[in-house]
Amino acid sequence: MLEESEARRRLIEATPLGTICQVSLLEALGASAAETLRATVPLPGFDNSQMDGYALRSAEAMPGNVLRVVGQQFAGREDGSFQVESGTAVRVFTGAPLPRGADAVIMQEDVELCGDGIRLRVGAMPDEFVRRRGADLCEGQFILQEGDVLTPARLALLASQGCSGVCVRPAPRAVVVTTGDELIEPGAGAGLLPGQIFNSNGVMLASGLRSFGVSQVRALHAPDDPVQMRAVLEMALEEADFCVIAGGVSVGEKDYVKAVLADLGARGGFWRVRVKPGKPFFFAELEGKVVFGLPGNPVSSWVTFLLFVVSALQRYTGRTIDPSTPSLPLVRAFLEAELRNEGDRPHYVRGVWSAKDGAFRSVGLQQSHALYGLSRANALVRVGAGQRLEAGLAVEAYLMGSA
Ligand code: AMP
Ligand code: MG
Repeated sequence: MLEESEARRRLIEATPLGTICQVSLLEALGASAAETLRATVPLPGFDNSQMDGYALRSAEAMPGNVLRVVGQQFAGREDGSFQVESGTAVRVFTGAPLPRGADAVIMQEDVELCGDGIRLRVGAMPDEFVRRRGADLCEGQFILQEGDVLTPARLALLASQGCSGVCVRPAPRAVVVTTGDELIEPGAGAGLLPGQIFNSNGVMLASGLRSFGVSQVRALHAPDDPVQMRAVLEMALEEADFCVIAGGVSVGEKDYVKAVLADLGARGGFWRVRVKPGKPFFFAELEGKVVFGLPGNPVSSWVTFLLFVVSALQRYTGRTIDPSTPSLPLVRAFLEAELRNEGDRPHYVRGVWSAKDGAFRSVGLQQSHALYGLSRANALVRVGAGQRLEAGLAVEAYLMGSA
């Protein structure tokens, strides 16, 4: 049985990097940048006014002083004809180029109109309410590093440089394959017959993939029959970069997944990881595709998805990963009650972490089939084999989702 970090190291190593392509900025949200870029346009691009007000010479900005207003400059094309001479001011609006000769702006609320001029109620320091060219960002500064996740603000920064697209490593195409003769699709047919259950892993894993940035996800189902399962897996592998299988990887007589994959030529794989829930986790490579065999119990399926599939997804999209720890957001948590693990595998306890005070309490049955508790939980706390964590202890909790 592999240790969890060794399992992650191996599957990260076996997962290929996605192929780089250029996408429009609107399509790039959440992807990882595949290029490093430097600024070509300074920010601000030119000296401009930070306020609606009057541009003037700061040396003449004394309370009570009267200045003649010689024109107005809006945000937009610069007229260029204005020159703030001694005793004059130019009406300006937020974002308007600062007229020549001016070195400060006074807010319109701080002047009184008098004839064709203004009387100042306050003074101004040099540069007051002026945004200087390059004060935020200079030409040549880094604006994007390879591996950076493209957030709305980073996309905005690229747009500020005139970029309409960016090179990314897009997420893989994924297929989720659920397995099991007992499973019925929700909404299908006459409902449940004795012994049947609804397929809940299918939607959980497909939406899990989506929540971690995979937009192309297809869901298939294979019965517990090696011939039919082979046909479904062949179809999945034809179109997927990532094949995420649920169920059929344990030691039951109808757990055919491993045998069928071996038959199809899967290699470099491993089976069983020292972790609870999720021990029967299986991983293999097949013709440049990666295949994950998650245990069928819903909690095991979801926890192994978070512990292993997420790391492989991050690798595929070019992010830096530390295999010694799950690739999930970490938060500081205080245990509301003691957590004890008398077993010989690290236990990921499902619970509720409060963003308000950091308290963590376990929720629901801590068993691998207990979907209800999982549905109320938002975080995992790892309790090592044989470990006892006292109530009140500060620990790290993994959030069960992308940040
Ligand atoms: P398996 O790993 O195939 O032995 O399945 C373990 C347990 O998980 C069994 O109780 C299955 O009925 C259940 N299970 C397997 N697949 C699913 C699924 N897609 N949705 C809900 N439960 C499942
Ligand atoms: Mg099964």
